[in-house]
Amino acid sequence: DREVQDFRAKKQMTIQGTNVPKPVMNFDEAGYPDYIMTEIKRMGFTEPSAIQSQAWPVALSGRDVVAIAETGSGKTIGFALPAMVHINAQPLLAPGDGPIALMLAPTRELAVQIQAECSRFGASSRLRNVAVYGGVPKGPQIRDLSRGAEIVIATPGRLIDMIESGKTNLRRVTYLVMDEADRMLDMGFEPQIRKILSQIRPDKQTLMFSATWPKEVQRLAHDFLNDFVQVNIGSTDL
Ligand code: ADP
Ligand code: MG
Repeated sequence: DREVQDFRAKKQMTIQGTNVPKPVMNFDEAGYPDYIMTEIKRMGFTEPSAIQSQAWPVALSGRDVVAIAETGSGKTIGFALPAMVHINAQPLLAPGDGPIALMLAPTRELAVQIQAECSRFGASSRLRNVAVYGGVPKGPQIRDLSRGAEIVIATPGRLIDMIESGKTNLRRVTYLVMDEADRMLDMGFEPQIRKILSQIRPDKQTLMFSATWPKEVQRLAHDFLNDFVQVNIGSTDL
């Protein structure tokens, strides 16, 4: 399809994978529910960013995604909006259920940023989220987990602590995000990530977002993702 090829070239996009869905060239093509479209309009966004235009249709089709794009390219809602659509299609949480979407991030600062986007776009659909990270008391996080949350945003160490102390569980996780995967590995979180991933059902959907694509991140992707579509924006010497 010539139009799709031109669009990808204009966005400096390279893709790998089989049967890759077409990019969306505007917000309407993504097919988001009204509660999400309302927020997109409220934010004043005029068009999907390059990474969003291709990562959204792949993620919304249920496929695993590797998305490589520089900082500031709109990766957060690249994975957070499809997460909400995914959650809306799942049975409601029962008491004692853990999250449906789990988003792993390297730092407290980043977890809080992701949480802010999830709160902004998810509030009117009553999607609850909890951010779980170290360096602060556990009490409020434990309380919020006990109330139930469809989305948990977590740094790896504190999440393992919460799982091992029975404050949450990963039995309902069917949508897993690793944000800033390169930074998480730089910070030495690979053993914790592998431990967490080993507790999630193998048929989950997995999305990996990163600014760079070093060997260690590639290895993690090949170990845990299935038939993924890889989207790169910008420099192709990766
Ligand atoms: P990244 O994770 O790639 O570093 P962020 O998700 O933090 O990028 O997004 C960077 C900024 O771009 C944020 O302020 C976000 O609100 C904004 N943004 C996201 N998507 C769009 C869009 N489609 N149009 C305009 N701004 C956007
Ligand atoms: Mg980011």
